Amino acid sequence: MLVLTCHACGVTAEETEFHAGGEAHLKRFGPGSSETDFEGYLFMRDNPKGVHFERWRHVYGCGKWFHVARDTMTLEVFGSYSAQTYTPPDDLIAQIEDKRPDWTRKAATA
Ligand SMILES: [Zn+2]
Repeated sequence: MLVLTCHACGVTAEETEFHAGGEAHLKRFGPGSSETDFEGYLFMRDNPKGVHFERWRHVYGCGKWFHVARDTMTLEVFGSYSAQTYTPPDDLIAQIEDKRPDWTRKAATA
């Protein structure tokens, strides 16, 4: 069972108290963007075996969205952080790099 901690209210609970919202840190494309960029925004998602950054919502609690860094294979949760960020916090990245020396963060798409 995946156990998460809500960044907004601090409650730690099993994943059934939360709702997954997909990949975190997507760059949004709207009117005026190319069809390729818009298609990528709508349909292209990472599905890594390992470290992944995701959006979650505390649906049976405070209702807030937050981000989680976790390992999709082991379900190890590295931490949760505010959804009002464009990138994960540096201290969380350092913690992941300590635990997964072979992991490299995917470069942000322009
Ligand atoms: Zn909460």
